[in-house]
Amino acid sequence: MKIYVLGAGAIGSLFGGLLFAAGEDVVLIGRKPHVDAINKRGLRITGIIEEVIKVPATISPPEEKPDLIILATKSYSTVEALRASKAIVEDTWILSIQNGIGNEDEIRKFGGKPIGGITTNGAILVSSGVVKWTGKGITVVGLYPKGRHTFVDKISEIFNRAGLETIVSENIEGWIWAKAIVNSAINPIGTLLRVKNGAILDNEELLSVAVEVVKEGCKVATQNGVKLEVHPIDLLFQTLKKTRENYNSMLQDILKGRKTEIDYINGKIVEYAKSVGLEAPLNFLLWGLIKGMEKLHGGVENVWGKRE
Ligand code: NAP
Repeated sequence: MKIYVLGAGAIGSLFGGLLFAAGEDVVLIGRKPHVDAINKRGLRITGIIEEVIKVPATISPPEEKPDLIILATKSYSTVEALRASKAIVEDTWILSIQNGIGNEDEIRKFGGKPIGGITTNGAILVSSGVVKWTGKGITVVGLYPKGRHTFVDKISEIFNRAGLETIVSENIEGWIWAKAIVNSAINPIGTLLRVKNGAILDNEELLSVAVEVVKEGCKVATQNGVKLEVHPIDLLFQTLKKTRENYNSMLQDILKGRKTEIDYINGKIVEYAKSVGLEAPLNFLLWGLIKGMEKLHGGVENVWGKRE
């Protein structure tokens, strides 16, 4: 299958590299230093496996249309990335493996055929050309927002063959929301307190706040007609246990002086609450505090006045 990975950073390079190694016709589309390093020395994957993969990489989308685009930018870069790839997006299947709510809707606005996805694999960009696969997880894919299509089954087949454990859901919207709701609690709480996920699980007060945030998100989802595929309270406990030793990605972004995905997690929950005449005060509070934090560090120093 001809596949382009749009936004080849940590998770996109991991997926693209493994798919290429399994015989798929993959091109990574990413930023210059990473792309140059890959074209010079190959993509090095460390952690769960140790491999150098000679996958082609480029900074701008090739002209020829692929069978599938895997969208793997941060959610705040989705619109810009789709705009830059306009010529190959229209009528093309596009699978988002991003976190957050709304990416698939943007794909549709640009004329692409959206496939939703979530993944619990973990990856970090160690340096240009080097990605660490930090944790094996599962990936769920599905026709967005609901339903079944043989092309999605085919994606699941090739992902599994590449060593990425994948299942198909007929209600991917329900998975995307469930994951976003869990992230809406863990990420901002862990970020504001600058703690590992395990600290939320071990602290009665923090855990009860997290549970209330999750309950609020569930109410918003249900009122918007989303049938949650896995109960977010169960998913919250599973995630906290499994990632006890991790600092969440939002905290890592703040520590690096980068923008966060808060607008596409808590921000979207607030937006969807308003659209059905509800309030989501806990999500609004967390959204506002993290937005404020992003501004405080001013893109140079992180909020604690120390560079990473
Ligand atoms: P990342 O390392 O920042 O990768 C995204 C890459 O895409 C960055 O290098 C970014 O460059 C690049 N990019 C943005 N716009 C582009 C464009 N128009 N053309 C080419 N490249 C472009 O982020 P990530 O950690 O892989 O996460 C990506 C998404 O997956 C997020 O939604 C995240 O929440 C989700 N996710 C990540 C993991 C994980 O373990 N990493 C797991 C599950 C889900 P700039 O930084 O210069 O913009």
